[in-house]
Amino acid sequence: MRRLLATALLTLPLAVHAWGSDGHQTVATIAAGLIKGSPAEARVAALLGDMPLPLASIWADCVKGIAPSQGYTYPAPGKYPACAALETPARIAEMADYVRRNDRQCAIGLDEDSCHKQTHYADIAVQRGRYLPKVTGTRPDDVVGALRAAILVLQGKPSPGQPNFKSQREALLVLVHLVGDIHQPLHVGSVYLDAQGRRVDPDKQGFDRASFTIGGNGLLLDPAATTGSKNFHSYWDNVPEEFRPQHVDAAWLAEARQVRPDAGDPLTWPARWGSQSVKRANATYEGLSFSPRQGDTWHVSLPDGYGARADAIKRQQLTLAGARLAQLLRWVFPRPQ
Ligand SMILES: [Zn+2]
Repeated sequence: MRRLLATALLTLPLAVHAWGSDGHQTVATIAAGLIKGSPAEARVAALLGDMPLPLASIWADCVKGIAPSQGYTYPAPGKYPACAALETPARIAEMADYVRRNDRQCAIGLDEDSCHKQTHYADIAVQRGRYLPKVTGTRPDDVVGALRAAILVLQGKPSPGQPNFKSQREALLVLVHLVGDIHQPLHVGSVYLDAQGRRVDPDKQGFDRASFTIGGNGLLLDPAATTGSKNFHSYWDNVPEEFRPQHVDAAWLAEARQVRPDAGDPLTWPARWGSQSVKRANATYEGLSFSPRQGDTWHVSLPDGYGARADAIKRQQLTLAGARLAQLLRWVFPRPQ
């Protein structure tokens, strides 16, 4: 779920969170399985207390239910069933406290209304082929920058200040979520389209606000041709039944254990994962055709066999995200302490 409030898409049912809550909980369930018995498991439990890792993985999305315009209250409990366990007075107070420090204290991006929301993504033109700082669609507090900030806080080092984390617990809550988001290809790579629905390159041709597709949120799907998603971004957030957290079994964990850990300083990992997602995003846009622009949206048609291709990428990305989250947690929490 991203920036829908700023668009006409507000009228759509907002049942969709990034990766959907299912995807995030699948990533966290894989990671929880892989850190079992390690010092990282104990450190995570010490920070999260009675909040299980899968519930922690959707905290940063449920935080979007806090309304700054209504005194930082949580006006619509029950709206997102997945958030129910976070809707206790103490947990709502914790979410409100985070939003107070991460509301308007940054340079607000395009189509955005709150600092904490824009930490969930970047919008790099797929033509770049990788994550590069300072190109169109990046910010110091984009998903790569926010992950780096969370890692620094968990290492006990000074953070760049955006997002504002008051504690290691808060940094962990956001990190667990964003490792999922950065593996959703449309959270990092984007197409930019002209009025005729042709691809343009904002870094080479100059950025035109009208070419912005809001990370695929502005690409409307013909509902009859899809699994029920209204736009291309939410199509990619949704995961099929067999990828839900309850289907994380020994075989899936074994597969995740085979993922080779990244080399080098973990502070470089988010940009590397982001680069991989830009390449994957390019693949997700392969074979698509776009209508001319209507208002600020385009209609998109998917080629035959697209669903199976998408599911294979989703499965791979969820597995990578779970494995890498576990690797990152083991790295920042090497000792029981
Ligand atoms: Zn998110």
